[in-house]
Amino acid sequence: MDHQPKIGFISLGCPKALVDSEQILTRLRAEGYGVVPSYETADLVVVNTCGFIDAAVAESLDAIGEALTENGRVIVTGCLGAKDSVVRDIHPSVLAVTGPHACEEVLTAIHAHLPRPHDPFRDLVPPQGVKLTPRHYAYLKISEGCNHRCTFCVIPQLRGDLASRPVGEVLREAEILVRSGVKELLIISQDTSAYGADVRYRTGFWNGRPLKTHMTSLVAALGELGVWVRLHYVYPYPHVDEVVPLMAEGRLLPYLDVPLQHASPRILKAMKRPANASGTLERIRRWREICPDLTLRSTFIVGFPGETEQDFERLLAFLAEAELDRVGCFAYSPVAGAVANQLPDPVAEEVKQERQARLMALQATISAERLRRKIGRTLAVLVDAIDEEGTAIARSTADAPEIDGVVYVANGANLPVGELAEVRILDTDEHDLYAEVAVVKETKNKPRQKDGVRGKRRS
Ligand code: SF4
Repeated sequence: MDHQPKIGFISLGCPKALVDSEQILTRLRAEGYGVVPSYETADLVVVNTCGFIDAAVAESLDAIGEALTENGRVIVTGCLGAKDSVVRDIHPSVLAVTGPHACEEVLTAIHAHLPRPHDPFRDLVPPQGVKLTPRHYAYLKISEGCNHRCTFCVIPQLRGDLASRPVGEVLREAEILVRSGVKELLIISQDTSAYGADVRYRTGFWNGRPLKTHMTSLVAALGELGVWVRLHYVYPYPHVDEVVPLMAEGRLLPYLDVPLQHASPRILKAMKRPANASGTLERIRRWREICPDLTLRSTFIVGFPGETEQDFERLLAFLAEAELDRVGCFAYSPVAGAVANQLPDPVAEEVKQERQARLMALQATISAERLRRKIGRTLAVLVDAIDEEGTAIARSTADAPEIDGVVYVANGANLPVGELAEVRILDTDEHDLYAEVAVVKETKNKPRQKDGVRGKRRS
C-alpha cells in the first residue's frame, strides 16, 4: 500500500507516557496507518513529550523543533502539551497540542491533518455511529458508574464507581452529532453534577482549548454548538447554581432533571441520598428568579421501608410548595442485592399504591396549572413527527423525549420533521400542549388527541 498514510512517532518521558504512546500507536495501526522510523518517509510526526523537570522540558522542545525542521508537520501530546502556551510560544507552527492521556484527542488531530485510509467495512458506519434515536436528537453519555451508595440502587455494583469521559472526547462526539443533523443533545450519566470528580476535574483539551473536566465547563462549551442542550440526572450540588444563568442566557435549555426521590430528611437519610433536600425549596426559588422559564423535572419513590404517613405528607407538602413541572413517581420495589432490602418496616403494597396515586393526583393539578400559564404564548418547538391526520407532534424546551409531554400542532402538516418551528399555545391538559403554527392566525380549532401518539412516561 504505497498510498498508506505514514506517521513518525517520538516517545519521551516516563512509563505512563510510554503507555499513552502504545495506545495511540495501537489505534493508528488498527485504523490502517503505517508507522515509520524516519522523518523523510513520514507524512506527519507525533511527539509525546515530558514536562517533569526543566531538562525534560528542554529535551521535549528540542525534539519538537527537530521534527518541525526535518518533517514540518508535527502534533504534540503528553505532559508538556498540558502547557499549550509553552509549546506554541516556541513552536507556533505545530499542527495541534494535547495534554497527557489524550488518545482520542491525538487521533482526532491526526484525522484532521492526515485522513485515515479508506476501510470498506468500517466506512459503512456513519461518523456519528449507529443511533437508535431519530436523526434530530441524540443522547450524549458523559460518564459511567456512580460514587454514591443509595440504599435502593445497585448501579454502583453493576457499573462500578464514577468514570468520567475525557471532556475533549465528549465535545468531539457532540460536534460530530451536530454535524450529522442532531438538533438536541440530551446529556446523561448516573450523576451529571459529579462529572469530573473522579479525575479531580483535570484539564482536557477541545480544539486546542484547555477545558476543565467539570459539568459547568462542559455544558458551557456544549452551549456554543448552537443546538438544544438538555441536562438529565443533575443532583442539586452547589455548582448546579452556576448553570442556571447559562439557561437564562439561552445557552442551555431551561430544563433541569433533578432526581430528588423524597423530601423527608428521615427517608432521604435511610436512602443515603446525595445532596439531601435541606434548602432545596429555597434553591428552586432562586433558580426560578434567575431563569423564570426553567422547567424542573424530578422523580420520587413512595413506600420506601420505614416511610410513615407523616413522611409521605411531608413529601406532598414539598411538592405543593415546589410546584415542579414534571414528576415521575415509583412505588418502592426491592431490587435484588440492594441494601434497602434489609431495612425494617416495609410498607404494605396497597399503601404504596395508594400513596403513589395520591402523589400523582396532586402533581396532576400542579402540572396542569403550570401548563395552563403557557396559553397564549409563542414557543419554539422541535418537530418530532407528523401523524396521519396531519398534526405535528413536537416538543417545547420543557419536554424531554419519551418522558415528558408533547405539543400537538394542528395545522403543522407542512412543518419539517427534525426542525424548529414557532407555535402559539391554544390549550393544555395535564401533560400536553395544543398549538397552532404561529404565523397561521386563522386556525383556532383544538386538534383531536389520538390514542397512541403520546410519548412513553416513567410515571
Ligand atoms: S441512585 Fe443514582 S446516585 Fe444513587 S447510587 Fe444509584 S446511580 Fe448513584
